[in-house]
Amino acid sequence: MGRITLDKVTKSFGEVQVIPPLDLTIDEGEFVVFVGPSGCGKSTLLRLIAGLEDITSGQIRIDRQDATHVPPAKRGLAMVFQSYALYPHMSVRKNIAFPLKMAKMDPAERDRRVDYAAKVLNLTDYMDRRPGQLSGGQRQRVAIGRAIVREPAAFLFDEPLSNLDAALRVNMRLEISELHNTLKTTMIYVTHDQVEAMTMADKIVVLHAGRIEQVGSPLELYHTPRNTFVAGFIGSPK
Ligand code: ADP
Ligand code: MG
Repeated sequence: MGRITLDKVTKSFGEVQVIPPLDLTIDEGEFVVFVGPSGCGKSTLLRLIAGLEDITSGQIRIDRQDATHVPPAKRGLAMVFQSYALYPHMSVRKNIAFPLKMAKMDPAERDRRVDYAAKVLNLTDYMDRRPGQLSGGQRQRVAIGRAIVREPAAFLFDEPLSNLDAALRVNMRLEISELHNTLKTTMIYVTHDQVEAMTMADKIVVLHAGRIEQVGSPLELYHTPRNTFVAGFIGSPK
């Protein structure tokens, strides 16, 4: 579960092609980081995978099935939004349970999943609070909890920590990496922050103007950047 393949995927907004033909394979259980400067197409690419935007041409496969025209809710993927997407009037428990309630899941199974998410995220003692009574890091964990309960084939994160202060960001980075170790589910993580990419990724995809400049492990990119763009962005100086 969680293998995602993009085959000659393109995306245009009107006349403007922001993603030229792009091929990429994300393996089961991998932690993949899309990194690149602002405007390079990271969010667009993630939204295409999530199904929140239609691709203009090409094919997306999820676990070998053609997902190109599958609506977002049926792709089995969970997008983690920034914590401000929580419902302020609902308890933590209700916020986390919300997607399952919408899906009319049996309450016993719903409770089991919510309790599991609370446990892996260390939120067990905070379940009756409202988001306004939590720290920024706890709120972000609630937002992640809402994805975990769906038991997705992959988690998609779009700069989830950009609203947090520097110290908390470092902390949350570690927490998300630990979560990946626990769940072993595919994660795609978008950031413009090289340090985040280098410390979290199994595989880094460096994007520049909608194109993939290089794909590799943090060490590969650091030691053998393919070009000056990658070298300037994360590689060692040559
Ligand atoms: P990033 O997340 O890397 O900062 P985006 O994926 O948001 O980049 O944007 C990539 C390019 O696509 C930018 O040039 C942006 O202006 C353009 N773009 C993104 N969304 C839209 C849209 N809905 N309509 C038109 N252009 C868009
Ligand atoms: Mg973006």
